[in-house]
Amino acid sequence: MQVKQANGEGVLASPRKKQRVSSANAAKVTVVLGAQWGDEGKGKVVDMLAMDADVVCRCQFKEEKTLPLENAVNWIFFDEWGREFNNFAVRTGGVFQRYRCLFEELESNEAKGLKNWQERLIISDRAHIVFDFHQQVDGLQELEKGTQSLGTTKKGIGPTYSCKAARNGLRIGDLLGDFDKFSQKFDTLVTSYQKMFPALQVDVKAELHRYKEYAERIRPMVKETVQYLHQALREGKKVLVEGANAAMLDIDFGTYPYVTSSNCSIGGVCTGLGLPPSYIREVVGVVKAYTTRVGDGPFPTELLDATGELLQKRGHEFGVTTNRKRRCGWLDLTLLKFTAMVNGYTSICLTKLDILDTLPKIQIGVGYRLNEKEIDYFPSSTSDLAKVEVVYETLDGWESTTEGVRSLEKLPPNAKKYIQLIEEHLNVPVKWIGVGAGRESVIAL
Ligand code: GDP
Repeated sequence: MQVKQANGEGVLASPRKKQRVSSANAAKVTVVLGAQWGDEGKGKVVDMLAMDADVVCRCQFKEEKTLPLENAVNWIFFDEWGREFNNFAVRTGGVFQRYRCLFEELESNEAKGLKNWQERLIISDRAHIVFDFHQQVDGLQELEKGTQSLGTTKKGIGPTYSCKAARNGLRIGDLLGDFDKFSQKFDTLVTSYQKMFPALQVDVKAELHRYKEYAERIRPMVKETVQYLHQALREGKKVLVEGANAAMLDIDFGTYPYVTSSNCSIGGVCTGLGLPPSYIREVVGVVKAYTTRVGDGPFPTELLDATGELLQKRGHEFGVTTNRKRRCGWLDLTLLKFTAMVNGYTSICLTKLDILDTLPKIQIGVGYRLNEKEIDYFPSSTSDLAKVEVVYETLDGWESTTEGVRSLEKLPPNAKKYIQLIEEHLNVPVKWIGVGAGRESVIAL
């Protein structure tokens, strides 16, 4: 409702409007998202940007890297090279947490000098709890699927998301509320899973005892994180969000069913954090200079030859938890155009360019043909994707090492052509180029 002044202008309208516009404009949210099937090297760009951020957020579960345990806490407070961040880390509504792991990990890092994490780690009361039985159920479900298994990391993420959708999941708010109610819900949940999987063994009493202890330990860290984040933004703080996994593993836009259980494209950032899309200023798409994929499912540019093996070896393409070899192939611009549409990248961080250094010829997928016709979209059906024929452009390689290069001018001309082709097809500028595993091995443009 507007109150009219004598001059006919809305009393409330103009100042409110100004305030609304200025808070959206002032919001400094940068999001880092994987643009392919994961393992693009997001960690490095997040480390780089986190140095300049006041608050670092995670809004989905980072499946692959959560075990071995050290990684999750290292992500929160340290960069890949052990330098400590001074910022606050927020784990928000969309994050699923196995608290046993979190505490074991925090304690082991305390021994290495991690200080006052209790004040700096903020956990949303909306976050769902991944119980140990969820992990067991994940394994049992995969076993049941046999040859049709999805190749999950068996960390219990799928079953926890199922509970979330079935609305019988338990959240941090439940744990910190009435513990009798929490216990009842926990018992009911275990009983219903035991009906489905008689082999499921859960010592309910011992689990609840453990959770009662956890409740008190995490209580000081739990906040209503939507208010916390918006307040931080109103104060002009810079917020960095690391998306988990990658666009092709998104439950809606990825290569379903070979995907994770969450929205790991831009939408998941808004729903996980309670941030309106207008607050997101920068979306950095992390693109590996070639393509890799773990587990099953169609992979149009896959190389099943010596070049694929070379990329796998030079790129150390092994799954962190599973130690499975990652499948490798050429860069796929049709796939990237699709994820760029969904995520709206404002810039690209191109990683692992150095892995291509030794190749005399480099192919790059620039289009798809399906049933002998060129198509201008990325097929949603895995059977169509398995049938596509990739249209390639072949470029001469640069056959020299890029690892020591720190400026665009010093990159070999053929490497520059490769980068230009990517920019032209995606219509997004490349802002950083990774030329080695080390922190310093980056060309910033
Ligand atoms: P994430 O799953 O996307 O977070 O990937 P990580 O950040 O864990 O990166 C995977 C690996 O790639 C790490 O060992 C990084 O050091 C390595 N890496 C990242 N960028 C580059 C690069 O530009 N060149 C090389 N050779 N290795 C890189």
